[in-house]
Amino acid sequence: MAILVCGGAGYIGSHTVHVLIERGEKVVIVDNLQTGHVEAVNPAAIFYRGDIRNAAALEKIFTENQIEAVIHFAANSLVGESVTNPLKYFNNNVGGMQTLLEAMVKFGVDKIIFSSTAAVYGEPEKIPVTETAATNPTNPYGESKLIMEKIMRWVSRANGLKFVSLRYFNAAGALETGTLGEDHATETHLIPLILQVPLGRRDHITIFGDDYPTPDGTCLRDYVHVMDLASAHILALDYLRNGGSSEIFNLGNGRGFSVKEIIAAAEKVTGKKIKTEIGARRAGDPAQLIASSDKAKKILHWAPKFSSVEKIIEDAWNWHKNNPDGYKK
Ligand code: UDP
Repeated sequence: MAILVCGGAGYIGSHTVHVLIERGEKVVIVDNLQTGHVEAVNPAAIFYRGDIRNAAALEKIFTENQIEAVIHFAANSLVGESVTNPLKYFNNNVGGMQTLLEAMVKFGVDKIIFSSTAAVYGEPEKIPVTETAATNPTNPYGESKLIMEKIMRWVSRANGLKFVSLRYFNAAGALETGTLGEDHATETHLIPLILQVPLGRRDHITIFGDDYPTPDGTCLRDYVHVMDLASAHILALDYLRNGGSSEIFNLGNGRGFSVKEIIAAAEKVTGKKIKTEIGARRAGDPAQLIASSDKAKKILHWAPKFSSVEKIIEDAWNWHKNNPDGYKK
């Protein structure tokens, strides 16, 4: 039996495949390579280049392989783009979930682990954020992920499917060896953007607002190492294999770091001064987003190994320094 990883050529997907292969799992990847990279596809996995909205493509994969469970990362994930082009997000993210679940039900595959996001919460009322907090997404990206969770819940009731939804806070870092990492055609995330400055690819980093009600006025985020996210997917897989019920878990380290603190940590790690400018607030940015991951720790026995921001930035730096153009040679 194999694990089907949808979006296994993407950032978090490729790191999760790496861990699955290392522990001896059989892995099948489907990725349309719209945002994923063929170079990030693990050579030990069976790879299909295809779109999960294509029912015939899924049918072929489920016919040619004995799929035990699905880990689903295949989605668009740019907040800003989702605001200007919401239909792209509802078509690809929500539409993809629909065809994927149809295929799973048809072929009797009853376990799915889903890549969700803290963006489902919107502006949180209480910090740290627990899984029972209200969900009020402030952008179509977060809304699409929330709808995808709701679809899974209804299908689980009707068709006996079991799901685990993992709501990540700020994913960052890279595989320690520097062979896998973050490579987005349009980079919007703080840590890779900061690291472009010491790489000589960017003159400065703009801090989006320094007048937030936080200790230094800049936003607080909970940064979590991509390898700790990967290990949570493996634990979720084992949890479902052991008969666990459908659940939602937050994944973060439970500590908030400000934009200024991240810049200072990046200066320490890279040994280079990083020029900053203060810019306007970015629309839809909550002042703080910090996870309570107590539930994941208790039920999945998740124990993040790389919780220091220095380690997260060090691994990201190692990747970017060795691959300044990402996967492009
Ligand atoms: N940020 C910033 N400058 C940038 C990019 C991001 O000040 O060029 C801030 C952003 O406002 C947020 C934090 O860094 O407070 C993390 O942003 P990112 O886009 O990495 O993740 P998000 O929290 O939006 O998922």
